Amino acid sequence: MDYLPLFFDLKTKPCLVVGGGLVALRKAELLCRAGARVTVVAPKLRQELLSLLQTHQGRAITAPYREELLSGMMLVVAATDDLALNRQLHRDAQARGIPINVVDQPALCSFIFPAIVDRSPLMIAVSSGGSSPVLARLVRARLEALIPSYYGQMARLMGQFRERVKRRFERIESRRTFWERVLYGPVAEQLSVGEEAQAEQWMTRLLAQSEEQQAGEVYLVGAGPGDPDLLTFKALRMMQQADVVLYDRLVSRRVLELCRRDAERIYVGKERDNHAVPQEGINQLLVDLALQGKKVLRLKGGDPFIFGRGGEELELLAEKQIPFQVVPGITAAAACACYAGIPLTHRDYAQSVKFVTGQLKNRSSDLNWPELVHANQTIVFYMGLHRIGHLASQLIAHGKSPETPVAVVQAGSTPQQKVVTGTLATIEAELQQNPLKPPSLIIVGEVVELHKKLAWYQGAEEDGHPVLSLRE
Ligand code: SAH
Repeated sequence: MDYLPLFFDLKTKPCLVVGGGLVALRKAELLCRAGARVTVVAPKLRQELLSLLQTHQGRAITAPYREELLSGMMLVVAATDDLALNRQLHRDAQARGIPINVVDQPALCSFIFPAIVDRSPLMIAVSSGGSSPVLARLVRARLEALIPSYYGQMARLMGQFRERVKRRFERIESRRTFWERVLYGPVAEQLSVGEEAQAEQWMTRLLAQSEEQQAGEVYLVGAGPGDPDLLTFKALRMMQQADVVLYDRLVSRRVLELCRRDAERIYVGKERDNHAVPQEGINQLLVDLALQGKKVLRLKGGDPFIFGRGGEELELLAEKQIPFQVVPGITAAAACACYAGIPLTHRDYAQSVKFVTGQLKNRSSDLNWPELVHANQTIVFYMGLHRIGHLASQLIAHGKSPETPVAVVQAGSTPQQKVVTGTLATIEAELQQNPLKPPSLIIVGEVVELHKKLAWYQGAEEDGHPVLSLRE
């Protein structure tokens, strides 16, 4: 370890910044944020520095640096481009045992400034030990994206309750379980939407519950179309905290791999005419697992509320008063359209888009065909591949031009993606030439023409482990 990371309490402590330019300003700002009493010395100080010091009761000295200024200082920052002066500052500070940072000259530093993610009081510091500040900033940017912005309030709230929780739960394991419930449950969710008062009420409520009362929870989460990069941050968070995962066929292998390693995984199937667990069984299983106190993840392909029966799964939970949360996912229509270069709407070709199911309960009378054949509208059929001939002929019979372009997208967003195009008149024959497998999505409308121009993703050779399990 080249440097020991420490967090320094600088409140009301005198600190010296030498230099009057932009770099000095940035360092002085940082020190002011930490509550230090900042003195800045330089023959000339930029206006922002003067205002900053005025706001934070600092001191501006418009004169060259002199050694006496070091007296009583806790910390020194040299932000000048005068190399001789920097060296002198380094010597003077060392002689007095004052920590010094000379900007951009690691050899003259006794401490370095890390890149920081500030969720005060939660603070994350990243350093490459001076070897690559760019790399440290990149890591910081990644962490920024990963750490929800409300974690600062979370840390403060947890701090406020810390003593009470200690008194309430004697055993350290119980305390840990309690804090996990806070971090993963309704307290966090309230904070994430800015409801601080609600979050505090939840905290008090959780604290009053006995350990047995602490029932589980269900997360109904959209896993997207297959590409794990299309998951939401929230989906990922819930995937990593769930004790048990119920998933079906449309959840890709690579997405499933991101669930917590030790979580129990239950396959509940669902292919056309072959359900590993019938729908009522899934509904009941969610209830049973939650009542055992588990955090249950119900992971569904695409978006849970688009042809996903997500609503039905929640009804029983609501009835039994089991807490649940729902996380949207990128639905197949959005993903297939983007990955095939087919804008679902376009000023010139389509002013609206309809998502419909091609799986018809009572044959074709389920769909309002006259409404589907309107001009300037894109139609997306989910679950329609096996009946594409029927769907195409119904659209033609109800007045849609046989020349209307059609695209079928197999396993959109995954390496197995394939696109076959044709028209309502030809698509069935095209598919006989180039057969596709489910899951596939059908897009009908003039916008399909744009695929020729805008296609950008070709899929890739299969590696023997399909990302989405394709059906025969
Ligand atoms: N809730 C899902 C849809 C479930 S219905 C969503 O929002 O996407 C199942 C149908 O979705 C499949 O028959 C297929 O038509 C479509 N589908 C799902 N994932 C797909 C993918 N990656 N590529 C193409 N079609 C897909």
